[in-house]
Amino acid sequence: MQNIDLRSDTVTKPTPEMLQAMFAAPVGDDVYGEDPTVNALEEKTAALFGMEAGLFCPSGTMTNQIAIKVHTAPLTEIICEVDSHIHQYEGGGIAFNSAASTALVHGERGKMTPTQVEAHIRPLNNIHFPETRLVSLENTCNKGGGSFYTLSEIAAVSDVCKRHSLAMHLDGARVFNALVASGDRAASYGLYFDSISVCLSKGLGTPVGSVLLGTRPFIQQARRVRKVLGGGMRQAGYLAAAGIYALENNIERLAEDHEKAKQLEQVLKEANYVNTVLPVDTNIVIFKLNDRFTDAQFVDALAEQNILASSFGPQMIRLVTHLNITDQMQEKLLDTLKRL
Ligand SMILES: *Cc1c(COP(=O)(O)O)cnc(C)c1O
Repeated sequence: MQNIDLRSDTVTKPTPEMLQAMFAAPVGDDVYGEDPTVNALEEKTAALFGMEAGLFCPSGTMTNQIAIKVHTAPLTEIICEVDSHIHQYEGGGIAFNSAASTALVHGERGKMTPTQVEAHIRPLNNIHFPETRLVSLENTCNKGGGSFYTLSEIAAVSDVCKRHSLAMHLDGARVFNALVASGDRAASYGLYFDSISVCLSKGLGTPVGSVLLGTRPFIQQARRVRKVLGGGMRQAGYLAAAGIYALENNIERLAEDHEKAKQLEQVLKEANYVNTVLPVDTNIVIFKLNDRFTDAQFVDALAEQNILASSFGPQMIRLVTHLNITDQMQEKLLDTLKRL
């Protein structure tokens, strides 16, 4: 029996239509800048977000780490939320790759307010402190349970950055979920962010890939760093074609994933094994179990029903909806969660 896999939206497999687009892609050597499909993906993504240029990379970790490297120097500092992916889940890469430190904001469900950001900026011309260079937002916020910043909230943080001459980066691993949920226009993001990392292999359903966006000079620097990290790929157009297909076909349908996540929230709120459910804003459902199950027991109980979930800390569970969860799977899922 097929597993209903809600561990992450990275577990999706390409559809026959996406594979068809990949087979048909014209390719060349991208390290020479000669892969027309990679070039097309980079241009298309940049245009979508109102940015000048793009760089196709193997992963979102790489696009974030390259952006941080290009924006910072050793002995400088990045302001980010304590639960952010760049701080929690990139293996300490900021220290390793950039020799920079992080000033950690304790926000609300992964989100920082402009006031919090401003309070973490270091005083200028004081040798005791690292020099603040960069502010990094995450949209949607993974550990915040898929919470999102609206454009006006982004604009308010950007205002602080501009006043203090700080660069602003977006970890947009799930930026399309944020855009679909908020109704904001992607093109407006270009007004505020100096760099944006977009993942194609989460809700959009491609097998591999992220795109880093920025100004032309920024992307030129980023291309050097990608090469150093071993991320220069050759006939990568086969992968980029999946990205182009996903941008053209898989954005609007994210609303269905959000609807399914809402249905899970409703059932879990009523369940006698749940303590609390984080508000569900997009495709991520995080909840806390009461003492009927430990998180490990709960994951095992679901696995017996061919449902895969992630333990997300003591008593915490995360479920993520995505394009490979069919209506039929959803029905079984809701039914199982009611009966556990
Ligand atoms: C998944 C994710 C990334 C990038 O992850 P990769 O597995 O390296 O592609 C970055 N930020 C957030 C918030 C993520 O969820």
